[in-house]
Amino acid sequence: MSDRPDVLIVGAGFAGMYAVHRFRSLGLSVKVLEAGSDVGGTWYWNRYPGARCDVPSLEYSYGFSPQLEQEWDWPEVFSAQEDILRYANHVADRFDLRRDMQFDTRVTAVEYLDDVHRWRLTTERGETLEAPFCVMATGCLSVPVKPDIPGAATFAGEVYHTGTWPHHDVDLAGKRVAIIGTGSSGVQAIPELARQAAHLTVFQRTPVYTIPANRKRMRAEVQDEFREHYREIREMQQNNQGGVSNFRPIKSVRRANVSPSNAFPARLLDLTPEQRHATMERFGLGALLGFRDIYTDPDANEIANDLYRETVLTMVRDPETAERLLPKTYGLGCKRQVLDRDYYDTFNRDNVTLIDLTETPIESITSRGVRTTTGHYEADVIVYATGFDAMTGALLRANIRGRNGRKLEDKWRDGPVAYLGLQMSGFPNLFTVTGPGSPSVLCNMLVAIEQHVNWIAECIDYLRTHDVGSIEPLRTSEVEWVAHVNEVAEGTMYTAPSCNSWYLGANIPGKPRIFMPYVGGYPRYRARCEQEAANGYPGFALGDRLSP
Ligand code: NAP
Repeated sequence: MSDRPDVLIVGAGFAGMYAVHRFRSLGLSVKVLEAGSDVGGTWYWNRYPGARCDVPSLEYSYGFSPQLEQEWDWPEVFSAQEDILRYANHVADRFDLRRDMQFDTRVTAVEYLDDVHRWRLTTERGETLEAPFCVMATGCLSVPVKPDIPGAATFAGEVYHTGTWPHHDVDLAGKRVAIIGTGSSGVQAIPELARQAAHLTVFQRTPVYTIPANRKRMRAEVQDEFREHYREIREMQQNNQGGVSNFRPIKSVRRANVSPSNAFPARLLDLTPEQRHATMERFGLGALLGFRDIYTDPDANEIANDLYRETVLTMVRDPETAERLLPKTYGLGCKRQVLDRDYYDTFNRDNVTLIDLTETPIESITSRGVRTTTGHYEADVIVYATGFDAMTGALLRANIRGRNGRKLEDKWRDGPVAYLGLQMSGFPNLFTVTGPGSPSVLCNMLVAIEQHVNWIAECIDYLRTHDVGSIEPLRTSEVEWVAHVNEVAEGTMYTAPSCNSWYLGANIPGKPRIFMPYVGGYPRYRARCEQEAANGYPGFALGDRLSP
């Protein structure tokens, strides 16, 4: 590991891992600092029971190495956390990534040194490291948040957050478990916790729209067909709004004698009310994923929300519990779509109780459980599934200071300002992977990560070969880009006034309400990045090298 690397990278998740490989290929020396004890990022930390990915694994995988694509076997269509982490470890071994990584090292400050034009990183242990380039590969959902509930510190039992689940086995047998939060993590964890615990009490503030996940094992012939077509599939990903190819393994579908699932038209509004109900009866909640107009047409959205609610009422036996589980204050498409395994059926179990916090809010946590305005719920374990300070959290927590000591926190006081989610003016040679203003969380993350890392690598290479010392966006570029990011988000389901999501920072008290990811689609975004590079970075200021 180099003591004077060309590039310092913060984070050894999928972004930091690929950055090591890609930068090395250009002859750059790198050093990664990672708070965890190993690679994997999200998949290293989020080990709660039921954790899995909602993008098919054959697509949620690196595309940079054809050999890797051919040699890795995915056991399921949508992989569980442990399988994705196994993949991350395989990649780290195969490309010998760990030799440039320092684990158990949390970065506490990232400062630009004006006089020497270098970045200095300080770690929790007081160590300092310097390099001319710094890449923040810190993830979009990596800072778990716990609500500030009076008395929380007095709880005498075990406390876990889904985003920092322990690495040892957690034995819940015979225990009373309370879980707070019903977003993607909560919805995945709840069925598993209910199976393991003596009793599970679910504290729900906002009911969720969740659709049953595809739970198929991987068939060898499907995997083979993907492998055969991987180059074409990667190309399709590059031209898809969300970075997924939607490749259909025609041969294996035919061989298995499965009928293709184009059973209904693409628009919900094209169906008569009778056809809509028949479709829901036949295909269940999953049918709603097939209609594109649900996400673009408010009338279709309203109808879909009603169909959703009617269907849930048939899935949960106790009518009062069913009624409480119905999302009513916002529509489908406002939040990240949640996928589940047995979520609603879990509320038919005798050992599960649902508490609706809109009726009876939590007042405090006591040494023995959770007190709401109408009762006290005894618990041996409290699980917080309360989400993350998304997209900006990890960057702000790193205490980044740019030119003249300017704090990123001050620059972003009214919301994140960055050009293409890649760089900020006043912070030369500092790059963010999948930063705010890029498609990131609206895209297949692996595709978004590879595109960003490739762009950054080629940019650094350009600077070296053109004898340029530094790069940072023009102030006008980032202001215009932020305006464009807001403009394309305006009028979508994501920014409806009834919508409160972490995309908007609405889950963090005091966080400016700004739609952070770029909703204009991955291909359009990619084209813009490519245009910048091809034209010699006209939206950026390029600075001279310091004389030696
Ligand atoms: P989340 O979507 O932000 O959900 C947090 C939950 O905690 C919400 O139900 C929220 O209620 C609740 N909550 C927060 N503060 C609370 C409080 N003070 N009192 C009561 N309830 C409170 O977080 P997440 O579930 O961890 O998911 C975050 C994102 O991670 C997902 O959207 C997804 O992008 C990603 N993720 C993906 C997968 C997957 O691939 N399948 C799995 C897990 C996570 P309100 O809605 O009322 O705020």
